[in-house]
Parts: sequence; C-alpha cells; structure tokens
Amino acid sequence: MKYINSKVEKIKFNNFELFLKRDDLLDEDFSGNKARKFYYYLANDFKGITKVIGHGSPQANSLYSFSVLAKIKGWELDFYVDHIPSFIKSNPVGNYKASLVNGANIIAMDEIDCNISAGDYIQEVVLAKEPTAVFVPEGGRCTQAEFGVKILAEEIIYWAKQKNKENVKIVLPSGTGTTALFLQKNLPEFEVLTCACVGGDEYLKKQFFELNSNEKEHPTVLKTQKKYHFGKLYKEFYDMYNNLLKQTDIEFDLLYDPLGFLSLKKYLNEIKNKNLPTILYIHQGGLLGNITMIERYERKYK
Ligand SMILES: *Cc1c(COP(=O)(O)O)cnc(C)c1O
Repeated sequence: MKYINSKVEKIKFNNFELFLKRDDLLDEDFSGNKARKFYYYLANDFKGITKVIGHGSPQANSLYSFSVLAKIKGWELDFYVDHIPSFIKSNPVGNYKASLVNGANIIAMDEIDCNISAGDYIQEVVLAKEPTAVFVPEGGRCTQAEFGVKILAEEIIYWAKQKNKENVKIVLPSGTGTTALFLQKNLPEFEVLTCACVGGDEYLKKQFFELNSNEKEHPTVLKTQKKYHFGKLYKEFYDMYNNLLKQTDIEFDLLYDPLGFLSLKKYLNEIKNKNLPTILYIHQGGLLGNITMIERYERKYK
C-alpha cells in the first residue's frame, strides 16, 4: 500500500540505540506528519467535491502536502495566508515554491484588502460560496486526522509485537499536538512522549483538552530547558540538526526535531539508572521547509 507502512530503522544517537519510524519516506511527495493527518481525505471518496481549502503560513509543510493531496485527487487548492513576505514572492523556495508548481492558489489576506484573519475569513465569507469544497483547519487540527494517525498506531503495535518490544516509548515533537494526542489514544499500551514546539506546555495541554477531555488519554509532555518560539533561530537547534546528520546520516527537520531530540536527551539523562525503555522516534518529515531555515542559520551563525 502506498502512503502507509513506513519502515523502522535502528539508529545510534550519543551512543544510545533507538528506533526511528521513517514517516519522512512514506512517499516521495506525500509524506511525513501531514500525510498521516490528511490520509482521511486521500483514502475516502468525496463525491461532488472539487476543491480543498486550507490556511496557514506560506511556508507551512501543510501547504505543500495540501497541494500534493489536491493533485492526486484532481481538486483545486485554495490556501489562505495572512501575508506573503516579499522575499519569498520574488524568490520562491521550499514548500511555497513546490506548492505553486503543483498548482496551489495561495491567497493573501492583505492583498484582498481584508482585515480579518484567514481562518475567520474562510468561515465567515468563503465557505458559504464554496459548496463543493472541503475545509481543513490550520495544521490539520481536526477529528478527521485520527483516521490516518490510527493507522500509524496500528503499524507501531504490529512492529512492537513482531520485535517482542514491551516497554516502548513513542517520541514525537508537537505543533498543535493533534498527532501526539491521537497516537496516545490509539496506543493505550504504550506511553507517548512529546514536547511543545509552539506556544509552550500550557498551550499544548489546552490543545489536548480541546480534542479530548479525558486527561488520562493525553500524551506526556516532556519539559524543555526553556520556552522556545516557533520558527525562531536557536544555536542549540542548529547544533542538534548537524549533530544528528553527522551521527545518523539522516536529515531531520529544523522546526520540530531539534527540540524533540533535546527533550529526549534530557529525558534519557533523567532515567539513566532505571530500566531503559525502547525508544521509537517518529520522523515526521518536513524537509522542504529546511531550505529557508538553513539559509537563515548560515547567515546568523557562519
Ligand atoms: C505539522 C508538523 C508537526 C506537528 O504536528 P501536530 O500534529 O500539529 O503536533 C511536526 N513535525 C512536522 C515535520 C510537521 O510538518
């Protein structure tokens, strides 16, 4: 089956052996976190639907994944953003460029002279005029995301059974927390560990409650050294990215994975003398977004 069943590899990180679920390799184009969360839209039939509508940042991984989804389904994509920075417009790169190539319509709120946010505009103005469109909230933060994440959970259960792994901790960094939450809900036998890459721990916990009021089913949030702001540059993030590349020969993303591995490192140090669990880290893709991040890091730290 295409788009599911990613492989698991053994890697070594700081002399610690762990397992890596390669969701970044699900498919050449439709891969990573958003492929799992959008799988519902890919796998099901949507009679009469001709368009998918989304919103977010013009550099978002979701923009690119939407554009691939639309292409596969033969749909149009209207993606609303608040603003497109002029440097991206004049020199398209990464997710933005690739989604334009796929035919995405990227609509900037400040260019249509509208002073409300893209999300509100879609709800209040656009949807009533688009009866043949499906709307997906920012970052795929919706109950439909559980469909694909449940399949990911089933793949993990199957892997653990095959390899006779009992004490498995699943590790993945969070944005909205949708993936970690649905993963924990569908993996009651294992603990899901995550960290807050957007908005801090309290924001993340609030997101969990909005999707599931039963706190017992929430993932564990690993503490971070300090509060990090999404998309900002941190020397320790770039060092971690390069360190991972050197140690594993695998490229990780620069927005989520550095904090994922920093929190994992801290966690492993804290449980050092206890019974070590098997760690399964989920590589959630996002590498197209690295192009601009690497440029920014090189400018700042070289
Ligand atoms: C979107 C994304 C995430 C965050 O997923 P959530 O379900 O919002 O927590 C993490 N990593 C990558 C690479 C992503 O694209």
